[in-house]
Amino acid sequence: MPELPEVETTLRGIAPHIQGRKVLSLIVRQPSLRWPIPADLASQLAGKKLRALSRRGKYLLLHFDTGTALIHLGMSGSLRIAQPDEPAAVHDHFDLVFNESVLRYRDPRRFGCLLWTDEPVEAHRLLSHLGPEPLSDIFDGDYLFRRSRQRRVPVKQFLMDSKTVVGVGNIYANEALFLAEIKPIRKAGALTRKECERLVEKIKQVLQRAIDQGGTTLRDFVGGDGQPGYFAQELLVYGRGGLACPSCERALKEIRMNNRSSVYCVSCQR
Ligand SMILES: [Zn+2]
Repeated sequence: MPELPEVETTLRGIAPHIQGRKVLSLIVRQPSLRWPIPADLASQLAGKKLRALSRRGKYLLLHFDTGTALIHLGMSGSLRIAQPDEPAAVHDHFDLVFNESVLRYRDPRRFGCLLWTDEPVEAHRLLSHLGPEPLSDIFDGDYLFRRSRQRRVPVKQFLMDSKTVVGVGNIYANEALFLAEIKPIRKAGALTRKECERLVEKIKQVLQRAIDQGGTTLRDFVGGDGQPGYFAQELLVYGRGGLACPSCERALKEIRMNNRSSVYCVSCQR
């Protein structure tokens, strides 16, 4: 599943090819994504100049003078730059066609979306409740400490709640908690201020490292087989249940929490 680093890498990969360009057309082959692609979107976008691109959580935002297109990659979505004469494959559900390039969306499981708003985009129902960006300065130890007081949910679940902070998916929550030496099952409200500071630092570190790694795959956003940007990463605990802890070599413990896999070291994490 595309996580925040993949979305950020996607943004950086596609932006240079389409930013400032005029949309010739929107070709929709399959409007039934998680929510239907608005029927009038093609006429909304034709002839409009794409002013800028940005990211909020795992949403890619395409800013036009008349409004904003929101794209989410869902479980299996990807975006890449295709050549104008390149035939579409079976799961290529929409093309945003520019002069010399085509932004092509592929999504076998169709949990992603393409939506439109002409209101201020931060007020959109999908974005308005979102917590701070993990790599922003507002997300600091003090914020996490204040926000977690009285909270009895496990800290991992608390971190993966987009109202707490956006973009900390299962993989990154596992990795950051290991690096911060905090058990995923600890109650959020039981974290000390120092632990909150350490945890924030490690969350930023694992996400930034993944984004930096993704940067090396940027060329894959143009051409290729349409599977861009999802990079193999060196993971310390995620997917390594039963294997040796990279720090103390005891077997890592794997449990299910909230129906997601959690892997941690019973001796290194408190
Ligand atoms: Zn250990």
